[in-house]
Amino acid sequence: MRSPVSDMDRANIVIVGGGVVGCAIAAAASAKWSDVFLLEQMPKLGMGASSRNSGVIHSGLYYTPGSLKARLCVRGNRLTKEFCATHGVPHRNTGKLVVATAKEQEATLAELMERGKTNGVEGLRIIDASAIRAREPHIAGTAAIEVPSTGIVASEELVKAYARIATEHGADLVTHAKVRRLEPQNGLVRVTSDAGEIEARCLVNSAGLFADEVAGLMNSPMAKHKIYPVRGEYCEIVRSRRDLVRGLVYPLPHPEGLSLGVHLTKTLWDGVLVGPTAHYIADKNDYESNRPPVQDFVRMAQPMLPEIRGEDLVPAYTGIRAKLTPPGSHHATDFVIEKDPQFTNVVHLIGMESPALTSAGAIAEYVMELLAEILN
Ligand SMILES: Cc1cc2nc3c(=O)[nH]c(=O)nc-3n(C[C@H](O)[C@H](O)[C@H](O)COP(=O)(O)OP(=O)(O)OC[C@H]3O[C@@H](n4cnc5c(N)ncnc54)[C@H](O)[C@@H]3O)c2cc1C
Repeated sequence: MRSPVSDMDRANIVIVGGGVVGCAIAAAASAKWSDVFLLEQMPKLGMGASSRNSGVIHSGLYYTPGSLKARLCVRGNRLTKEFCATHGVPHRNTGKLVVATAKEQEATLAELMERGKTNGVEGLRIIDASAIRAREPHIAGTAAIEVPSTGIVASEELVKAYARIATEHGADLVTHAKVRRLEPQNGLVRVTSDAGEIEARCLVNSAGLFADEVAGLMNSPMAKHKIYPVRGEYCEIVRSRRDLVRGLVYPLPHPEGLSLGVHLTKTLWDGVLVGPTAHYIADKNDYESNRPPVQDFVRMAQPMLPEIRGEDLVPAYTGIRAKLTPPGSHHATDFVIEKDPQFTNVVHLIGMESPALTSAGAIAEYVMELLAEILN
């Protein structure tokens, strides 16, 4: 990436965090304004959740109607596919199945489909057991929702493409630039990072898992949105058994679960992922300790994929979700994308868990409206 910021540069916009969300905002903002900087603490962009996920371009099926997640996911689904097609980002329109594995689940399946329709997800239909088998010969289900608009994307490549466009527009994307101090003063924000100091007319906090802490650096009231890290682990199906899964297969999400449930994902590199799990962890940087045994994945996947065995699986990567729900709470939460009530030239994005990869382009559009209120 570019050289460190020089002492006391002046920026129109400083974006904290170079994941998919920060890079999508940088690409959009730099098309309109000059002097856009993005500061990323790691040596490369996209090393957080943006490269440690399922890579699914979600449809918008699951989210509370009217919520930001529902609206930005449905729009983001279309924008992401268009963006990938235009900029050569590897992706595939796979469609997916959400499978009921017992008759008693079918009423819930129908409710989920109605929710998807309310959210504007197109082409949804229920298929029966034989249609499931025709599409996925090894999957056991009594019925499934067929979701044609779901796809998969190479998430690292998506980050890189947004970053490339931002750079072409003249934005400065600076790595090794952990933001350590934020001092709002005289209508500007003075930003101190490992790469130097800079004054910003406008600050965007898109620091992923650490967005609450970045809000805390300026004693913002938005720091009340505490992030609880929830790790998800994946296993991968060994090469000789990859034909067990052809596409994307999800269970019905558990009503009190932390995630959409352990699912089966045929990747762009022709592997099959099983996961992710979901459990709270104490340390936001802990990607590996106490990983669950392979047998746990077998237990979770077997209702949908009865033939799966422990010897079919090897541990794969992990990712950490930026959850706003504390342990024990089962309330659905929404993305928090707001201007700071106290420092009104600051926009915070907090709780940017799934489907923020899918939604990144739509999130950037939404943030552009807030930035225009500040900068115009
Ligand atoms: C297991 C898992 C599976 C998922 N699957 C999907 C999926 O299939 N589809 C989907 O749409 N979404 C999915 N998601 C969600 C998606 O990956 C995230 O919502 C998205 O990547 C968030 O992007 P981000 O830019 O907000 O965060 P990040 O990618 O985490 O980026 C934030 C960046 O901020 C940087 N940063 C933090 N603090 C500072 C600081 N002080 N100074 C400078 N830089 C800082 C970090 O280093 C990081 O690079 C999944 C997430 C997980 C964990």
